Amino acid sequence: MAQNSSRMAGRHFLHIPGPTPVPDRVLRAMDTPMIDHRGPEFSKLAKKCLDGIKTIFKTTNPVIIYTATGTGAWEGALVNTLSAGDKLLMVETGQFATLWKKMAEKLGLVPELIPTNWRVGTDPKLIEARLREDKGHEIKAVCVLHNETSTGCQTDIAAIRKAIDAAGHPALLMVDTISSLASMDYRHDEWGVDVSVGGAQKGLMLPPGMSFNAISDKALAASKTSKLPKSFWAWDDMLTMNKVGFFPYTPGTQMLHGLAEGITMLHEEGLDNVFARHDRLAEATRRAVKAWGLDTVCSDARYQSSTLTAVMLPEGHNADAFRALALETFNISYGASFGPFAGKYFRIGHLGDINDAMLMGGLASTEMALALAGVPHKKGGVQAAIDYLVTAHGGAKKQAAE
Ligand code: PLP
Repeated sequence: MAQNSSRMAGRHFLHIPGPTPVPDRVLRAMDTPMIDHRGPEFSKLAKKCLDGIKTIFKTTNPVIIYTATGTGAWEGALVNTLSAGDKLLMVETGQFATLWKKMAEKLGLVPELIPTNWRVGTDPKLIEARLREDKGHEIKAVCVLHNETSTGCQTDIAAIRKAIDAAGHPALLMVDTISSLASMDYRHDEWGVDVSVGGAQKGLMLPPGMSFNAISDKALAASKTSKLPKSFWAWDDMLTMNKVGFFPYTPGTQMLHGLAEGITMLHEEGLDNVFARHDRLAEATRRAVKAWGLDTVCSDARYQSSTLTAVMLPEGHNADAFRALALETFNISYGASFGPFAGKYFRIGHLGDINDAMLMGGLASTEMALALAGVPHKKGGVQAAIDYLVTAHGGAKKQAAE
């Protein structure tokens, strides 16, 4: 045991792919007295959030804000647009795609899951081919994940839209953007997404407990004829009340204070800069993994995620034991592994309010933990990440100019 007391000095390195570190500014914004959720101050706050969140999804349509975790917004997307027995097309990109599919089944829907090896995102050609076969348009929705948090593989959503259009199919496009929203570029309107599902505790830098449905006109029209039972999740009451800045029930007021601050911070940095920062940190992490001589779960560069990197351990090394050792020794948390690769990989989250210096602390801890755990690897991962980050910041150029 490296530790002989229960207190661990210094900060905890939360390198799971969400919940992510909540910035002090957001915590301070939430540390405020309760207000009347039917009063004028609340209405101002709600309108600020309802307008602000549209800029994050890049939509001009209303966005539903649920007082629930992401799983609730998954359910909101399905029950508002579909009816019992409706067929869905889903792709088994990993654990979260599988869970969404199980939810659809429990709700009385009939999902068809295209299998994959969990090491890639969704290939648009698979979607197009399946939809072309569906001459009778029995498939009512295509549900995909922009970023599969369990594996670190992303999907090109614009290409999925093109695939649906190329097949001339009227299915709704539903996209889970829970671990990509406000970290990777996402365009609800431009990409023709019908329902986008988002969550608070990742790129938006909030605690868990709030989630979103961004909806297209087509999804709104589908909600008028959808017959699945819904009450808490129903969009219609919510949209009516939201118009005047209220909710049909008591919403999470402190979360809304936090959301307003989180959105302000994202725009202060600039969304494009936020995305570039995530791309940079992801590339630095991949360089480190490559230099260590280890593999990422994502096996195809086209699908690499910018918010997390899942790292395979060599045969005979248990990833859960590795995570426990790293936590106990260096006070760092990584994400767990799932499905066919349970116990075989760990996930390094690099999303939310995180910068280069924080990442380097995390990668140095990882390199130390690999050595301590006796995992065969090459040295130099941290150096490879440093070299990349220096170049990415134009360091060599700056020095030459001096
Ligand atoms: N979808 C994705 C891609 C996720 O990463 C998660 C959680 O991490 C969920 C859905 C479920 O969201 P929650 O755990 O907030 O209910």
